[in-house]
Amino acid sequence: MTSSAAEPWRVEDTRALRSWRKACRLLNLPQEDAVSLDIACRRHPLKITHHYLRLLRADKPGGPLRRMLLPDARELTHAAAESADPIGDAGIHQVAPGVIHRHPSRVLLCPTWRCGGYCRYCFRRRRVGEEWRNWRADDIRGALDYIVAHPEIKEAILTGGDPLMLNDAVLLRLLGKLRQLPQLRLLRLHTRMPAFNPRRLTGSLAAGLAALQPLWLVTHFNHPREITPEVERALGRLRRRGVPLLNQSVLLRGVNDAPATLGELCWRLAAAGVKPYYLHHPDRALGTSHFYVSLARGRRLWRDLWRDLPGYLVPMYVLDSPGGGGKAPLVPAYSARAGFVL
Ligand SMILES: *Cc1c(COP(=O)(O)O)cnc(C)c1O
Ligand code: SF4
Repeated sequence: MTSSAAEPWRVEDTRALRSWRKACRLLNLPQEDAVSLDIACRRHPLKITHHYLRLLRADKPGGPLRRMLLPDARELTHAAAESADPIGDAGIHQVAPGVIHRHPSRVLLCPTWRCGGYCRYCFRRRRVGEEWRNWRADDIRGALDYIVAHPEIKEAILTGGDPLMLNDAVLLRLLGKLRQLPQLRLLRLHTRMPAFNPRRLTGSLAAGLAALQPLWLVTHFNHPREITPEVERALGRLRRRGVPLLNQSVLLRGVNDAPATLGELCWRLAAAGVKPYYLHHPDRALGTSHFYVSLARGRRLWRDLWRDLPGYLVPMYVLDSPGGGGKAPLVPAYSARAGFVL
């Protein structure tokens, strides 16, 4: 605890901005809609690292990166199609605290609800930001017991929240315990930390993760400008240790809903050694209508990607079904007469 408290990434995390009024001052934004934005930030906290703040400074008002991190009065409007648990995680599939088991072969583990920054579009925004709710020893035991009782589970996926918010010691101890279960063929980490706080990917974390192979790390980048030279260096530390890297993105209106933006994101990911894995159709979390993109538009965007990119750089376009049914691929079907059918 004490030694990691002084690590540069933790210092960066502790210094993260948590007040939208201060964000407005630093970004020279008009402090409008004060009451609404206060409410929005009570419902889903604001958190912006100084690394990311530099990107927001370079972004224009209403620009893609600002939309992802700054509160918006429209968050208080709840559309009929929206829900607090848009993909049915918390209901039927939560089998123990922070253990979500929907697909037989793999289980999601949420050891923390903290993140390196908070995305306004987050589909887990109902839980995320509950900063006090880290796993305790009995939660870890409960998760391990559950996995052992379900031998069909072959992969454990740490998600959250962001598992890289845990200290190396805590994270590697948890992963080490999972690694000792012979049924687990793969370990996986889902993290947005490389975008918010690239210093988190230290050489010693990379070495610790490499020792747990086979382990895959899945990043979360939505816009090409999130992949800065510092981020590329951080990803390089993992890659050189042989940790395979994938990326998932969320399709978001005004952020990346243009073929040129998504295409550029995929090229940059590839150059950083990251394979684009999923493009998620936006989930209908409460107060996120201003991020929503229609299915028809999403499909046209995906078709443009397919046309413009090498096949291995095209992410699979998926929709998480609202009832908790899992991900449905939205790739177009083929018709011999018409080519793609959308
Ligand atoms: C997305 C998801 C997974 C992982 O799915 P993959 O297709 O293996 O990436 C596992 N469990 C749940 C509940 C999920 O939503
Ligand atoms: S990092 Fe992931 S879990 Fe955290 S706020 Fe963003 S989308 Fe939600």
